[in-house]
Amino acid sequence: MNADARGITIVGGGLAGALLAILLAQRGWSVDVYERRGDPRVHGYAGGRSINLALAERGLHALRQAGADGAVMAQAVMMRGRYVHPLQGEPGLQRYGRDDSEVIWSINRGELNIVLLDIAESHGARLHFEHGLASVDFVDKVAVFKGDGHETRKPFQALVGADGAGSSLRGEIARVLPLGERTEWLDHGYKELEIPPANDGGFRIEANALHIWPRGHYMCIALPNDECTFTVTLFMPHAGEHPSFETVRTADEAQAFFMHDFPDTLPLIPDLRDDYEANPVGTLGTLYLDRWHLDGRAVLIGDAAHAMVPFHGQGMNCAFEDCVALADHLDANASLSDAFAAFEAQRKPDAEAIQQMALENYIEMRDKVDDAAFLLQRQLELA
Ligand code: FAD
Repeated sequence: MNADARGITIVGGGLAGALLAILLAQRGWSVDVYERRGDPRVHGYAGGRSINLALAERGLHALRQAGADGAVMAQAVMMRGRYVHPLQGEPGLQRYGRDDSEVIWSINRGELNIVLLDIAESHGARLHFEHGLASVDFVDKVAVFKGDGHETRKPFQALVGADGAGSSLRGEIARVLPLGERTEWLDHGYKELEIPPANDGGFRIEANALHIWPRGHYMCIALPNDECTFTVTLFMPHAGEHPSFETVRTADEAQAFFMHDFPDTLPLIPDLRDDYEANPVGTLGTLYLDRWHLDGRAVLIGDAAHAMVPFHGQGMNCAFEDCVALADHLDANASLSDAFAAFEAQRKPDAEAIQQMALENYIEMRDKVDDAAFLLQRQLELA
């Protein structure tokens, strides 16, 4: 395909959108990225909290293809094993491999996004912030983006939907082509908390580990950030049993719950009461689609195509693999339609397999309560 004759309009400047912009711009494509939020390099990353993700070899391989691994890894924290905190007994580190060649990495989502956006821009991709996709006319091939009081009508050759699990582009495609969309929601949700740096500015607990407090139907995990904090994630049922987000609602209830179930975390999370009340409960689900593209006019990648539960730590890693695969197929095929079809044929079975593994691990975690630590370890090790 003659790249000079082709332009790609990416909807969503998150993790997948920014990485794909790099890969395509490097290959000579004319790339526009439209992102609903403001520029995180100017306004700070949305939410302001440090949220991190486990980056595994699959994702790292994709970053290498884009030449982004150096800048990303400069901010990564190595996790050489799981550090299990039982309710009774001594906590301890269990290495993932024999040495530090077999590790995973903790990456700050906001920093990662900013690094990728910077590199995309340096390769000539045009970034349009505060431009949320509002509607698409697939006949005249015009996309309408709206922001704070403005509207932009953008003619396009092809749209790539990298706009996440709630994808607007997916909704627009579905108006002209049934996608067979189905979402299975989990009855567990999550809430993020934070362990700040110690008084001397260092980490409060072992830095190079993924910490786990397994408690059967619920658990906490903590991943390190390079500013010596940890992002703690509490996974727990939404309702119908105790503990759940229904029965642990207030600061007092959270304090009592943590005192009873995670006593060693209380001195580590000084803002537990405020954070618990302030931070939202996230929902988790698996998105299934029968098809990912509308001939050569639009294609979906990442969470927009195959959102999954996080029990394999795979969503971002899988989205990054999509980016490499799509860029390769765009290079290798004579038409956009063929490229999108080949991309879907390659990636859809892989994504569905990973979704299924993530889901099975969740079910096992729920039923085999004593194995929770082992199963969570598996999700991240296998990523
Ligand atoms: P997103 O990161 O959601 O980006 C979508 C972008 O599109 C956003 O910037 C958004 O603002 C923008 N957007 C949305 N709507 C519009 C619109 N209408 N117009 C324009 N722009 C729009 N994955 C891992 O690999 N490892 C992990 O350890 C891990 N842990 C996780 C833990 C939790 C609790 C959760 C919920 C997920 C986790 N994931 C993990 C999954 C990972 O977060 C996602 O798979 C990844 O963010 C998908 O990237 P994406 O670019 O497809 O979507």
